[in-house]
Amino acid sequence: MNTFQDLGLNEDLLMAITDLGFEKPSEVQNKAIPILLEKEGDLVALAQTGTGKTASFGFPMLQKINVDSRTTQGLILSPTRELCLQIANEMKQYGKYCKGLNVVAIYGGSSITEQARDVKKGAQIIVATPGRMKDMISRRLVDISKIEYAVLDEADEMLNMGFYEDITSILSHTPEDKSTWLFSATMPKEVATIAKNFMHQPIEITVGNKNESTSNVTHEYFLVNARDRYQALKRLADANPDIFSVVFCRTKRDTQKVAEQLIEDGYSAAALHGDLSQNQRDLVMKSFRNKQIQMLVATDVAARGIDVDDITHVINYQLPDEIETYTHRSGRTGRAGKTGVSMVIVSKSEVRKIKSIERIIKKNFDKKDIPNGMEICE
Ligand code: ADP
Ligand code: MG
Repeated sequence: MNTFQDLGLNEDLLMAITDLGFEKPSEVQNKAIPILLEKEGDLVALAQTGTGKTASFGFPMLQKINVDSRTTQGLILSPTRELCLQIANEMKQYGKYCKGLNVVAIYGGSSITEQARDVKKGAQIIVATPGRMKDMISRRLVDISKIEYAVLDEADEMLNMGFYEDITSILSHTPEDKSTWLFSATMPKEVATIAKNFMHQPIEITVGNKNESTSNVTHEYFLVNARDRYQALKRLADANPDIFSVVFCRTKRDTQKVAEQLIEDGYSAAALHGDLSQNQRDLVMKSFRNKQIQMLVATDVAARGIDVDDITHVINYQLPDEIETYTHRSGRTGRAGKTGVSMVIVSKSEVRKIKSIERIIKKNFDKKDIPNGMEICE
């Protein structure tokens, strides 16, 4: 097995890696880092969630940029505000010994003037959501005409969320001869189109089965009467007192309702959805990360790609409209080699969806009974 040193990373990065406690590179890091360090050019990397993709592009980018220059050299596009902040924070940690490094996060819902000012101070790396980035470009608040590295992170998610136009418009403001690195969990048609139209003979690496969800995750479903859904959720929480989980709902309204009800019933919970202000969302994420909240009730958009350590359970309070979304939900647990459980509360009318999900994740669900509550199980 390789060490990070074998991959060719410099002393500044190796020290940060030691501080982070990463012992050895993950598979995608093993494959991607040497290629990105040695070659200029494009790369497409496919690996499931939780496999360490951020460091796969983060370390090489940090090693290749020139921190003595104030020019923006690296651009990382990511689908949501939360992910943007998360990646920017990670880059700062990875680069904590790279003296002079400036990483700036650019995302909607927060002051554009402040972000523009931070960029002006000399950001070598910008981490951005496509919408805000496009906005800043059109207002001439950023200059990405000299970037050398562009990363499309969670490309499948970005395209799922309808960012195709924004991404192509942003890329049109970057130099032709930059390197583009695309990272994705899956390779739907739209991702292939981006790779074909905007990348030059990319090297492709794939880790694991593209469609299989994280193998450390077991999947369980609970068949209940639709009206007993909330009761079922409470009993699942009661049966797992140390639960640290994301509870997914389909709509902002349900998310808010379920969170409020849980709080009223004495559970440690909070809501995360798009109707909250950016400030509120940041606060909720911070308390969740610090484990001050046990159950984060969230919509898919708000929770997309979130990487919080040690999530024990993902609870599908309702199944998503698009069953593909299930993979992204269950990928919130079982990260970095840990185990996790993804639970689905279903009513009779939706139970056939379980079969379709099993086909997608290539794994079977265990049918379980709600603990101490046989009477609400079908
Ligand atoms: P992905 O983008 O593939 O979903 P992330 O980059 O968010 O995954 O990484 C998932 C988690 O694994 C993060 O908490 C990260 O700090 C951790 N991690 C990444 N690489 C390593 C490693 N080599 N050793 C231990 N933990 C790692
Ligand atoms: Mg990621």
